Amino acid sequence: MTTANRNEQLFERARKHIPGGVNSPVRAFGSVGGTPRFFTRGEGAYVWDADGKQYIDYVGSWGPLILGHAHPAVIEAVTRAAQLGLSFGAPTEAEIDLADLLCALLPSLEQVRLVSSGTEATMSAIRLARGFTGRDKLIKFEGCYHGHADSLLVKAGSGLLTFGNPSSAGVPAAVAADTIVLPYNDVAALEALFAEKGSEIAALIVEPVAGNMNLVQASPAFVAAMRKLTHDHGALLIYDEVMTGFRVGLQCAQGLHGITPDLTCLGKVIGGGMPLAAFGGRADIMNKLAPLGPVYQAGTLSGNPVAVAAGIATLGILSQPGFFEQLAERTQFLCDGLSNAAREAGVAFSTQAVGGMFGIYFSAHAPQSYAQVMASDREAFNRFFHAMLEQGVYLAPSAFEAGFVSMQHQMHDLEQTIATARRIFG
Ligand SMILES: *Cc1c(COP(=O)(O)O)cnc(C)c1O
Repeated sequence: MTTANRNEQLFERARKHIPGGVNSPVRAFGSVGGTPRFFTRGEGAYVWDADGKQYIDYVGSWGPLILGHAHPAVIEAVTRAAQLGLSFGAPTEAEIDLADLLCALLPSLEQVRLVSSGTEATMSAIRLARGFTGRDKLIKFEGCYHGHADSLLVKAGSGLLTFGNPSSAGVPAAVAADTIVLPYNDVAALEALFAEKGSEIAALIVEPVAGNMNLVQASPAFVAAMRKLTHDHGALLIYDEVMTGFRVGLQCAQGLHGITPDLTCLGKVIGGGMPLAAFGGRADIMNKLAPLGPVYQAGTLSGNPVAVAAGIATLGILSQPGFFEQLAERTQFLCDGLSNAAREAGVAFSTQAVGGMFGIYFSAHAPQSYAQVMASDREAFNRFFHAMLEQGVYLAPSAFEAGFVSMQHQMHDLEQTIATARRIFG
């Protein structure tokens, strides 16, 4: 039986009782076409599909797996925690350890609350910002994805871009009306908006390195303007670091920017592959949360002991000296190798890396905005994606996603990836 047959059979079976055959839309290969691979196993930098074919994995479960698949220390921590009980719905000591660790690593966090997904973190942070400021309006940027809460599903990047929907059906117009969408990296538009409506803005939420419209970096001027304008107008600055948190560096994107946000959302890496996320920030804001304050937020499985164990084990390893230097070096090596191979072949192509996160673009220059991302050659990406997949390299199945390198990607994996791309570029 060929590779495609087994994956195709599973996809057909999946579509009977699961809408579209997947539990999260981009997994369906809708953007690139073809059949999604069903995975049976992951170890280090590699995954194996239902037919036993091996791939070098640059998706890493969409970011969490900075230590690679099934890291022994994480598996051991999870196993030990599971044997002591899967969930209590009551406080455990390990939650305090994780909260202490997060606040120690990230100076902007005075207090933090644990939740189970990035969507919950951003949705809760926004409710909190509205409750704290007594204002309703929210600013987000075109192409930034902040999870799938109603008020955030407006021009929201990757999954929606992949399917060509600027926004989701089912979001009440009244809810969307309180979300103001501005172009990313456009300082003048931001200044104009604050001049007009500054006193109505509860919060500005941003992906400080956007990773849901491929990878787009915030310019220093944009970063400075977001901090100054929110501060001057009594609005809160929310850094959505669900993707960038402990992925681009040990102090996250806010450390790279030298910025102290009022609230920060974390997820992905902090759960080490388990469902765990968090939001936190200034204590005077966090104290407005129930049970101390009037802003309600809760979760049956919040701070789940097995997820917390995975998070603590992961953060313990990535906070060792030299971790991010090495990860960033390897990611840059990959990007440089791919760029050189494309240049030699005369292919219009560019790359960018930030820590363990990268973007590849079928355009001559790395994009600065959603409009520039949309102008890249999507057909060229789709052909490249399928050729790489065939040759055992698993990239994200969409031109609008960032890629991820783990500490388990060794030089020979990166060299093999570059050599494969060189053959494909021709
Ligand atoms: C993935 C992501 C989310 C949503 O997290 P989920 O765990 O998928 O709900 C929110 N914000 C950003 C920046 C993300 O990358």
